[in-house]
Amino acid sequence: MSVPEELLKIMVCTVCRSPLEDQGDTLRCVGCGVRFPVQEGVPVMLPEAAIPAPDGGEEAS
Ligand SMILES: [Zn+2]
Repeated sequence: MSVPEELLKIMVCTVCRSPLEDQGDTLRCVGCGVRFPVQEGVPVMLPEAAIPAPDGGEEAS
């Protein structure tokens, strides 16, 4: 089950406020790369629930 497009469009990452993309059972932030779990079709947008990006990708050094 995925998140309705209308809902996805108005939601932003609670960490960096970038848009999110639906990845099925998670929503991935296009900005910082964290993922938020989707439980029974309901995205859990709590910063505490965020799954960190695997290895940054675009870290400033
Ligand atoms: Zn983010």
